[in-house]
Amino acid sequence: MISDRFPRLRVAHLPTPLEPLDRLSALLGGPRIWIKRDDCTGLATGGNKVRKLEFLLADALRAKADVVITTGAVQSNHVRQTAAFCAKLGLELVALLEDRGACDPTFKRSGNLFLDRLFAAQTRIVPAGTDMRALSAATAEALRAAGRQPYVIPTGGSNAIGALGYVEAAAELLDQAAAMDLTIDEIVHPTGSAGTQAGLLVGLAARRQPVPVLGVSVGKPRQELEAIVLAIAQETAAYALPEVTVDPQAVRVDSDYVGEGYGQPTTAMVEAVKLVARCEGLLLDPVYTGKAMAGLIARIRAGRHAASRNIVFWHTGGSAGLFAYPAALGLTAEAEETGATALGIA
Ligand SMILES: *Cc1c(COP(=O)(O)O)cnc(C)c1O
Repeated sequence: MISDRFPRLRVAHLPTPLEPLDRLSALLGGPRIWIKRDDCTGLATGGNKVRKLEFLLADALRAKADVVITTGAVQSNHVRQTAAFCAKLGLELVALLEDRGACDPTFKRSGNLFLDRLFAAQTRIVPAGTDMRALSAATAEALRAAGRQPYVIPTGGSNAIGALGYVEAAAELLDQAAAMDLTIDEIVHPTGSAGTQAGLLVGLAARRQPVPVLGVSVGKPRQELEAIVLAIAQETAAYALPEVTVDPQAVRVDSDYVGEGYGQPTTAMVEAVKLVARCEGLLLDPVYTGKAMAGLIARIRAGRHAASRNIVFWHTGGSAGLFAYPAALGLTAEAEETGATALGIA
């Protein structure tokens, strides 16, 4: 196992549950949809970054870091999980946040950014289009000059070390499925900085169980993102499992559900978030899982999956972001009162 050979801090609540979404499956009339609950990884409302940070922050401690630098968008789930993990380890976090995403009035007060501040991360918001990699490097240089020992985690924690979390996660899912006698026909998940998909592909290849994986892009166009997934997958294999080769054909991204851009709401996302909330009591998020679920729903409605199939939707977390998008979801105070009036209880 990877975790025997690479330092890892065991913080995530694992294994995360694998559950059927029977009401949603029946409503869509297609395949049986299962959900892999990485929204339940346990740290500060959960999410997929905890698995990556178990390896990244173990590496930071090995490097004797006393401060961590990371980057993301204003409502980054990765930054929120890093802030919580650093708090737990007593490490300072400098969070460089690119001003992209939506422009709801609560955007810079609520959701993940509010939690970053609660965890005492030092947040700095910079204009959209800033070269975040260069800014991280310059920030690290300045801290080093001041006698500190910084450790830089890239956006989304997506590099060969972070992806190890999803190499292990793939094995976790295969073990769960085997124990339930479940054959998984496809895994669908949102893909952004590509580390999750890269790790899953390496993990599945390592077990010689090449379950098809579809990454639904939340920002980048298909070809660009497929190239990034492949590059990180190859780096990860070279770093940890040199005997594993990643088949470029296995790298599949669908970028049809991005809409206007990263963090910009779409009608299909709003429908997916509401549908899953109202028929399963489950929280998705506006930036990642809402768009990925919109993609899965559209593919099922287009008849691309036989009813006999089992599809795993990998829930990567993000529900804290909901609180920064009330207007996009049409759930402002006024909308609520309209609902009450309709029921005759206002
Ligand atoms: C970061 C994130 C993703 C994307 O994972 P990557 O490894 O960056 O591709 C998906 N969903 C949520 C909720 C995230 O925070």
